[in-house]
Amino acid sequence: MARKYLLPDYRFKRLSEITVEDLQKLGVKAVAVDIDNTLAYDCQNEFIDGADEWVEKIKKAGFKLIIISNATFRRAGYMGKVLGIPYVAFAWKPRRYGFYIACKKLGIKPKELAVAGDQIYADVKGANKVGAVSIYVDPAKMETRNLIFFGRRRRLEKPVLAEFEQNHGYGIED
Ligand SMILES: [Mg+2]
Repeated sequence: MARKYLLPDYRFKRLSEITVEDLQKLGVKAVAVDIDNTLAYDCQNEFIDGADEWVEKIKKAGFKLIIISNATFRRAGYMGKVLGIPYVAFAWKPRRYGFYIACKKLGIKPKELAVAGDQIYADVKGANKVGAVSIYVDPAKMETRNLIFFGRRRRLEKPVLAEFEQNHGYGIED
């Protein structure tokens, strides 16, 4: 596995810490957000640290927003409706097609898209593969479901994050 696809471009503690100024610096037109452990707590409808207000703020600043989720139409559709933004469900991240569908829906190129999510092997890898800006968001809470899958995933993420930390901190550096 090529490590270059795994390293995020940027890292934030929370989605709500990404500012309008940050997005302007990145020169993107839109932000694609993951649901579980990024917008909302894993498998819950409760938003993390005002993520719903953050969506409003980013929208008002003129950026487009879209959900790209591996979750069902029911969950992604619910979130899209509550937040008033389009969505791609069953995206099978890190496969490219969900990201391409999102770009098509928004009428933008992948390089004009910032992708924010809490999984290196789904959100970051997929974003990097299509040439979008990848933003890793620290998971709010570790998963309590699919422990074998997520336990392994989270262990595999550790060396990638350690490598990232050697050269970068949180946020957008000048
Ligand atoms: Mg997630």
